[in-house]
Order: sequence, then structure tokens, then C-alpha cells
Amino acid sequence: HKHLVIVGAGHAGSELAVSARQNGWAGRITLLGEESVLPYQRPPLSKAWLAGQVDADGLLLRPRSAYDAARVELMTGARMQAIDRASRRLVLADGSALAYDKLALCTGGRPRPLSCAGLAPGQRPRNLHYLRSMADAEGIRAQLRPGARVLIIGGGYVGLEVAASARGLGAEVTLLELQPRVLARVAGPDVSAFYERVHRAAGVDLRTGTELASVEVEDDRVRAVVCRDGARLPVDLVVAGLGMLANVEAARAAGLAQEGGIAVDEFSRTRDPDVLAAGDCTLQFSSLYGRELRIESVPNALEQARAAGSWLGGKPRPNRAVPWFWSDQYALKLQMAGLSQGHDRCVLRGDPATQSFSAFYVAGERLLAVDAINRPADFMLAKRALAQACTVDAARLADESVPLKDLLQ
Ligand code: FAD
Repeated sequence: HKHLVIVGAGHAGSELAVSARQNGWAGRITLLGEESVLPYQRPPLSKAWLAGQVDADGLLLRPRSAYDAARVELMTGARMQAIDRASRRLVLADGSALAYDKLALCTGGRPRPLSCAGLAPGQRPRNLHYLRSMADAEGIRAQLRPGARVLIIGGGYVGLEVAASARGLGAEVTLLELQPRVLARVAGPDVSAFYERVHRAAGVDLRTGTELASVEVEDDRVRAVVCRDGARLPVDLVVAGLGMLANVEAARAAGLAQEGGIAVDEFSRTRDPDVLAAGDCTLQFSSLYGRELRIESVPNALEQARAAGSWLGGKPRPNRAVPWFWSDQYALKLQMAGLSQGHDRCVLRGDPATQSFSAFYVAGERLLAVDAINRPADFMLAKRALAQACTVDAARLADESVPLKDLLQ
């Protein structure tokens, strides 16, 4: 029987294993991951889990019995070091070899390290945290006490979610964002301004346009950080949310990837017919947006994994899903569909002051994306419209007397 080896036991790897079996892959399946726990959900690590609202068991993607039922052999605590495509073998960190017939790379990413004066490359004081894994999240939670002075670097989703969760636990939170506004890379100015107001109202000392200059480390702890504007902030813990780097070193060495990721097609196939890839480690050309994208989201990891599983099982179904994402902060549920880059207009439907509104991003007559805050119905309608590449009358989107479904035809 043929052997499918999946490297990386996260959202993509877990789904790919089960999906390949469901689609008819008859051979062996090995799911190999360097973490020592069963595959779990990452999004709650900055949200409900960090806030103490769910326990670790509540995070598992599947119970162990689901892998047994699908005859998936789990190899936890095992790290793949190198790929030898010519002999179809992996070299693992313990020096052993693992032969494959088909290989799926689902290696995700790791946090971009903080680099500033006062910190040697790779230096990791005990109270400097990143957030990608359960182990990272446990490290943060152990130090997050009421009144703790938490300094968050980076106003992207992860940084903002950690700020909200830390405030909920009674910590004193300061957040530094280098750009003039939070969420600058992903959302329009209205949505950024809304989230800045919400965080400030919740007591976060939010400093945009503020660059970290250096950290003061003493006894393996960051004691204070100094901003470029001269402000010195004493801290109890620091969380850096600076985005991620794709884990593609082994794939690059094997000639399967460039720096930004492993290029895959809509069946998640790489340029090697025996190697597939899915999730945050990939780059996929989007016919919807006309460019190659690396999409860091759970829905994308699942869709790419299912496309790979369907192809491996002999029932190929391409992945052409509209990218989407969500973020929970305080009582706000943000859902985003599409990609707003390149929009020439952003139309608001509803009043941000009510904490329920949507921002529609439009280029000419084309809808590019939506950010829906506490408006799941708007999100669902817009997501469907994006899949059909429909045109919109931007001027009328703001008019709430016209039902949205009549505008997104
Ligand atoms: P991962 O889940 O990162 O899994 C990759 C796995 O591969 C890891 O377990 C890693 O240890 C393992 N691995 C890597 N290299 C090797 C190797 N050489 N050998 C063995 N194992 C290896 N997305 C959303 O859609 N909504 C959200 O609200 C959201 N919130 C998030 C909050 C946080 C704090 C974080 C960190 C991410 C969030 N994301 C969210 C992003 C989402 O978690 C990722 O898009 C998703 O986890 C990608 O899945 P993946 O399987 O590609 O990668």
C-alpha cells in the first residue's frame, strides 16, 4: 500500500489526513508534527482561551478516536528536517528516515522575531513572548495577572486580541503600533479608527505611529522598553505580535518553495507530482484577485487541505474559495471576506457608534471585500456575492432602507 506522509499537525495537516481518507485514499497515512499535543485550534489562544473561557480539551480539532477511525497514524513530537525528493524520503530531527509515496507539507509558520537594540539576535528573556502555539499561550497566561503591566508590540489582529483578553483579566495594557493606525495592512481607515476607539475606551494605552527603539533587559527579564519618541515604559511582560514567517526551509532546500511560501495550484499540488502543500506555508494564485496570495487563516488551511485530500483520494475538487477570516475582541465579532487591497472606495453601512456596521471595499463597480462588525448576515451575503464576482452600486450600499440582498445581485 502507498504511504501518505503529512508534515505538520495543525489545522491543515489534521484536515488533510481525514479528508484524504474520506475521499478514498486506501494506503497508510502518517501525520507527523513537532508539537507534543494532538492538533488544536490556534485562534482561541489569543481570545477565549487566553481570557480563561475555554480549557485545553476544548481546543482539540478532533478527539484521538477520530484519527483512529480514519486510520491515521499520529507521530507527535517529531520534527522533519529535510526532504529527499529523489528517493522520496524524509530525514527527521532524530536522524531517522521516513519513506513516502505522497508527501503533504502543512508546516504553517512561526512568529517573526522582535529585533531591536538591547536584544541580541535569538535572545528570549523570560517575559518576552510570541504567540503561535499552545506552549506560547501558556507562557503568557502564567504571567498575566491583574495589574500586570503588559506591553504589546504590533496592532494587528493577534496584538489587538491579546490586548482585549489581557484587559479582561485586569492587566494594564499598552500597545505600540509603528503605522499611523492599527490593522493598517488588512482593514480600511474607518475600521482601524473604530477599533482604536474601542480599545482606548476599554483602557488600553494605544500608541500608533510609535516605534520601539530598545528594550532594557536585566536578569533575563525585560524591565522597560524605550520608544523612538523617548518614552520609557516599565513592563512586567512583553508580547510581540509582528506577523509570521512561513516554515519553508526544508521545502526551499528541496527546490519546492520560495521565501514567501510553497507555490500550489487549486488542488494544492506543488511542482513535484508527489508533493502537496496546504495552509499558512503556501502561496496560491487566486483567479479572483489575479495574483499569488499567502492567506493566513483557518478557512484557507481547511479548504486547501480538502482540495489536497480530494485529489489524493481520486475525487478532485478544486479550491476556489473566497478568503475569509474573523476576529473577536471584547463583545465585537469581526468577520471579513475578500481582500481589500486596491479598493478605491470604502462604503459604511450602519453607524460604527452602534457597534454594528459593515465596511464594503469597492474598486469601480466591483466588490473586493467586506469587514462586518457584529453583522453576520451582511458577512454571509457579501461572501456569497464575492464568490460570484458580482458588481455593486457603491453609492447605494450605505442606504439601509434598501435590503443588502437587492444590492448584491
Ligand atoms: P499551523 O496551525 O501553524 O500548523 C503547522 C504545524 O506544523 C505546527 O504544529 C508546527 O509545529 C508543525 N511543524 C512545522 N514545521 C514542522 C516540521 N519541520 N516538522 C514537524 N512539524 C512541523 N485564523 C483565523 O482564520 N481566524 C482567527 O481568528 C485566527 N486567530 C489566530 C490567533 C492566533 C494567536 C494565531 C497564532 C493564529 C490565528 N489565526 C486565525 C491563523 C490560523 O491559526 C492559521 O491560519 C492556521 O493555524 C494555519 O494552519 P496550518 O495548519 O497551515 O499551520
